[in-house]
Amino acid sequence: MAVTVAVGRQDDLRERALGLFPGGVNSPVRAFRSVGRPPLVLDAGSGARVRDADGRWYLDYIGSWGPAILGHARPEVIEAVRAAALDGFALGATGPREVELGERVRAAMPSMERMRFVSSGTEAVMSAIRLARGATGRDLVVKFAGAYHGHGDSLLVEAGSGLATLAMPGSAGVTAGAARDTIVIPFNDPEAARAVFAAHPGRLAALILEPVIANVGVVPPVAGYLDLLRELTAASGTILIFDEVITGFRLAKGGAQARYEITPDLTTLGKIVGGGMPIGAYGGRADLMARIAPEGPVYQAGTLSGHPLAMAAGCVTLDLLTPQVYEGLERTGAALEAGLRDVAVLAGREVGIARVGSLLTVFFRAGAPRDGAEALASDRQAYARFFGSMLDQGVLLAPSQFEAWFISAAHGQAELEETLAAASKAFAS
Ligand SMILES: *Cc1c(COP(=O)(O)O)cnc(C)c1O
Repeated sequence: MAVTVAVGRQDDLRERALGLFPGGVNSPVRAFRSVGRPPLVLDAGSGARVRDADGRWYLDYIGSWGPAILGHARPEVIEAVRAAALDGFALGATGPREVELGERVRAAMPSMERMRFVSSGTEAVMSAIRLARGATGRDLVVKFAGAYHGHGDSLLVEAGSGLATLAMPGSAGVTAGAARDTIVIPFNDPEAARAVFAAHPGRLAALILEPVIANVGVVPPVAGYLDLLRELTAASGTILIFDEVITGFRLAKGGAQARYEITPDLTTLGKIVGGGMPIGAYGGRADLMARIAPEGPVYQAGTLSGHPLAMAAGCVTLDLLTPQVYEGLERTGAALEAGLRDVAVLAGREVGIARVGSLLTVFFRAGAPRDGAEALASDRQAYARFFGSMLDQGVLLAPSQFEAWFISAAHGQAELEETLAAASKAFAS
């Protein structure tokens, strides 16, 4: 007699994925390990919502981990990608859409006088670091504890986010040499910054930072801190790299550099600039970019760089990011922050809420953290319970304490109320 076992489509896909991919995923944070839940298998997204493979919809704050600032499956973006696809995919030569997106990026971020498109944020950062080393003839790179800059070897040291979620200090397989050339200092600590420049005169190739750290949860810079970093790097001939893979086109059309009025030497981009397609970009001072091959001696290349589908999605996404959209994101972010504070107080929960624009983190600790170490001292178990309760109520947060909530233009009043009602119960539980 045949026995049929009712297995959900999600269970089935999860099982098959586990056989294929380490942890059942193609990027570790998707595995939900630290929140003690099986990973979701998502098969559709629309506006502020995503659907799992069993047909259940969730209000989404993962936002594709940053890119989905307009919400999922925006019709204008779909149409642009469809039109680009009809012209053929990558043709192996410069295409008009690369020029169009490049001009849009430079108009939004004038510090990017010249640039290169690549296929991921990781690639953008690796290339910018190589350029900084090539241009200065120096080896050492300074980064901040808790900041994530992709998975390039030299920057996988105290790199927040995915590693912090798994409680890993760094990665196996990174050579001692690569780690030795990276100096990690605490964020928002002016003395530590002065000290590292004093200790290594003429030896620091680059200082790289997320101008608002978003990968250990949201940690904004204290007043005057970014100015200090600009002064120290300028005085020592060190290349200042703003990693705006998350903050670019999110905190303002011109990114964190516009919001805080600091001009970096180089900028790295990804996520939003590709409108949801795989992308990265790096660029900055024209004299530095002239050192990239074939104009200069620093080599960097990519078969699918400047892919027309990514360029098309990026162009229309940037065009849709009007001042009104940023005003709306700011309003929604402020209302969500205020509402979360209220429901936390009513439930008698002590949390620290950090927010810049449409990036927000609820830290399960007293007060918002000033740096990576303080962020990491949050109560992960409490977050896991909060996450689980929100998920059961149909609100999908990042499966880690050390991530931002990504608010999109599709998050409106109804979504806000739904979130606060769920949070009220989740804080109480
Ligand atoms: C996501 C991210 C990266 C890496 O980008 P990928 O496209 O995932 O390689 C680099 N820097 C920051 C700040 C990021 O958030």
